[in-house]
Formats: sequence, structure tokens, C-alpha cells
Amino acid sequence: MALDRAGCLGLDLRDPLADHRRAFALPEGVVYLDGNSLGPLPAATAARLRQVVEREWGHGLIGSWSDAGWIDAARRVGAKIARLIGAAEDEVICADSTSVNLFKALAAALRLQHNAAPGCDVILSERGNFPTDLYIAQAITEVFGGRYRLLTVPGDEIAYHIDDGTAVVLLTHVDYRSGRMHDLADLTHRAHLAGALTVWDLSHSTGAVPVDLAGARADFAVGCGYKYLNGGPGAPAFVYAARRHLQAMQADRFAQPLAGWLGHRAPFDFAAEYEPADGIERFAAGTPPVIALAALECGVDTVLAAGVEPLRAKSVQLTQLFIDLVEQRCAGLGLELATPREAALRGSQVCYAREDAWPVMQALIARGVTGDYRSADGGAPGILRFGFAPLYVRFVDVWDAVEALREVLAGGAWDQPRFMARRAVT
Ligand SMILES: *Cc1c(COP(=O)(O)O)cnc(C)c1O
Repeated sequence: MALDRAGCLGLDLRDPLADHRRAFALPEGVVYLDGNSLGPLPAATAARLRQVVEREWGHGLIGSWSDAGWIDAARRVGAKIARLIGAAEDEVICADSTSVNLFKALAAALRLQHNAAPGCDVILSERGNFPTDLYIAQAITEVFGGRYRLLTVPGDEIAYHIDDGTAVVLLTHVDYRSGRMHDLADLTHRAHLAGALTVWDLSHSTGAVPVDLAGARADFAVGCGYKYLNGGPGAPAFVYAARRHLQAMQADRFAQPLAGWLGHRAPFDFAAEYEPADGIERFAAGTPPVIALAALECGVDTVLAAGVEPLRAKSVQLTQLFIDLVEQRCAGLGLELATPREAALRGSQVCYAREDAWPVMQALIARGVTGDYRSADGGAPGILRFGFAPLYVRFVDVWDAVEALREVLAGGAWDQPRFMARRAVT
């Protein structure tokens, strides 16, 4: 496909999702390819937050817990997210951060495996998994007193390592660094055949690629609110537990370990003994962040308004166009594709390994194209990461981003001291 800029503008004219860009308050002059790290501000959010703060909090005061539906917000937004990941409405709740939800979900999965044979003691994960997922798994092995151990293997060897020693398979669906997407249904099936349970991290999937947790009979999942869900910095995360596991937890009368009062079946009885709620509410710990949940709901609504299947279709077109244009226009400039070429194997981002990736990305950002940088293991070249959120990224943006990349690399504009200084957040 040899397209020019006018051809890309033509694609935008025919784009069925083009109008959804207006649901965002995007700054002028920026091609934003970092919505996989922090989704942009939805146009509806500021007014909604003003309403929550001034009317519900300011006037309604404590009565708003009931009158404005604050107490139901974590379930209500969870039910909306459920529609994006193929879960039932009563299987998802918003709470805490992804890290904390991972802790709760992984602990619940391991507790369900309590009666497994003594040799069934492995938490199997991927070597390059997002660090917080590995840190939480490491911490959990200590919490369970050495009953379990963490085994990490290369991503393409996961299936080979699932056996009757595997208690839980803990994986991120779309890899944060490469964008490579695991076959969630196949690996879940393999785990179940071996008697293992799965905990899926959907941080880079939710709102960008279709996920069918029910179809895969997935066990537990967690995900992030501030990436493709556009919930704002530090937005609450979500946790999913299959209904059959919620019922098993109920039958065995065990709780996830962060058994706070809002996971109690009757918090306002103020009983001394913890009794978990029947359903997904047992994954709540403390008081929900009401203002942040209101922002998250605005963000989730932007995704629901478009629907996941149309988003995926456009996302595949955007990432393919970027790969094709970089190949055509940036040949010989040192970029090595670090994302699967096959669309079915990647999420909604494209990455390149490149020497001096850090200053190259800083020069691109100064040029009006925002992506980000990720370091690689063991001295390998860093990664230039570009996320293509199909709600607001246009085809012409893809063209302009590739042109900026070509200019920055071909002209050596990145090779200046002002682009070398590292910042706290990359
Ligand atoms: C972004 C991300 C997280 C974020 O975790 P927080 O606790 O919300 O900071 C976790 N896991 C993965 C795979 C992520 O991409």
C-alpha cells in the first residue's frame, strides 16, 4: 500500500469512528500516540467532575452516598467495563490500583488451589511481564509462607511450561513493551487442562482489543482505568472474578486477603467479625474514590459509545499503516520493529528498538508527536513506543508521525544535549 498524505486524509473521511474524536479535549498541534499509557481528557469529564464536587459533595454532603449513587459507583462502572471484556455485570468491580487488585486476585486463585497436590506449587509468568505483576507475585510467595514459587519463562514458551505443577498462570494479555498479544482463550484452556487457574492482566487490552472472558472461561482478571479507558491519571482499576469462583469462595467461606469493611456483606452493621459479601463486592477493600470513579465513568463511556469491535478494526488499520509507512519512509534509519508484524498477534501499539531511543523520543515530542520510551533488558537498545487509540487517532496523524520520525532521524535533530536529560517519568 503506497499512500500519501492526501490518501490518509481520504481514509479519515471514510472512517466510521471519525466523529468520536470530538469526545475528547485534545490540545492543538499534538499527535497523541501515548493513550496506551495515559488516555486523554474526555470532553465530558470536567463538567461531570464539577457537578460531583460542587453539587453532590458541596450541597449533598454525606447524603450523596445514597442520593447521588456514590455507594453503587464501583459496581456501576465495573458493570460497564464488564461489557468491554466479555464478563457478566456482576463479575467486575472497580477498586484500588491494578497492583492491589493483582494481589487480591492472585491470592484468591492460590487459595482456591489450596487442596491441590503438594507438588502443584508454581505461579507461572512471563519473564518480561510488567514489573508490578512480577513484584506482586514475588511478594505473594512470601505471604503464603513459601508454599508457592514464581517461575518466569519467555513469553513464547508459556504453553510448554503449563503442567500439573502449575497452580496459577499469571499473564498480561498484551505486552506493555512489545505489544505482543497472547492467545487468552488457548492459554486459559491449557491451564484448565493441567488443573491450573489463570489471572489475566488486561491493562493494555481493555478498550482496545476484544476480550471474551466468558468464552474463554477465564478465572480472574485485572486491568487499568487510565490507559485506553481514559479514566484520568491514577484512575481506579478493576478486578474480575468468574461467578463460579465467587460461589466457591462463598461456599468455603474465605475472603481475599485485603478484607476491608466495604467487602463485608453488611458494612453498616459494623459487625466485629468479617463476613464477605456474596458477590464481586468481596473484592472491595475500603471506601471508593468517588471523584476518580466519576472521571473513570466518563472515560469508559467514550469506549462504550464506539464499541470494541469497530475500535479493533480501526486499530488494526492504524497500526498496519504505521508499520507500512515506517518501512517505506524510514528505511536505513536504524529502526527495528519490535512488535509482531501479524495483526492478530499484536494489540494497539507499535514499537521499534533503536539506539539512542531516549533522545529520539524527546526530539519527536518536541516536534509535536507524543509517544514514549521504554528501556530494554540487559543493555539492548531502548524502545520507541507508539500507541494508536482508535477513538481519536486519525490516519493523517499516522502519516504526520512517520514524517516527524523520518525528519528527526534523517536530520539528526535528536542529537542535542537538551534531549539527553532523563525525566522521572518516561
Ligand atoms: C499500566 C499497568 C499496570 C499499572 O498498575 P498500577 O497499579 O495501576 O500502577 C499494571 N500492569 C500492567 C501490565 C500495566 O500495563
